[in-house]
Amino acid sequence: MTATSSADGRSQTELVVNEIAQEIRTLDDGVAWFSGLSPASRREVLQQVGGYAMQAHITAADGRAGVARSRVKPTANPSVMIRMDPPRYGFSSLPADEHVTAFRVLVSVFAVADTRRRQTHCKNACGHPWHNLPTTPVEAEQP
Ligand SMILES: [Zn+2]
Repeated sequence: MTATSSADGRSQTELVVNEIAQEIRTLDDGVAWFSGLSPASRREVLQQVGGYAMQAHITAADGRAGVARSRVKPTANPSVMIRMDPPRYGFSSLPADEHVTAFRVLVSVFAVADTRRRQTHCKNACGHPWHNLPTTPVEAEQP
């Protein structure tokens, strides 16, 4: 997968993050995609994923479970920020060398919260397009 321009980065981010949450794509594969982006695009992605985590109403338990799943040290800045009550979402302001760990933590915590939502609220069917992805990764459609 190649790096995306910021224009198509938006839908690409939504797709990659939700594919990871739904175990269509591995976290390591998502990290490889993220690492290939420009520093500016990485900041944008971190901001977007922070927004998804906020919308998913992550709990302190989600934070702990997500950090464990991310394999990032619990003492790393992003791990500490996400477990605050309420969580701090200023991940895009972190220094560049913490962007990859921030991405790992954010996506993992989002995955925990979103999986719970899919198993309860969205159990039988839902109208969220991002919960009805094809099981094979495809390129995102542009708006
Ligand atoms: Zn749904």
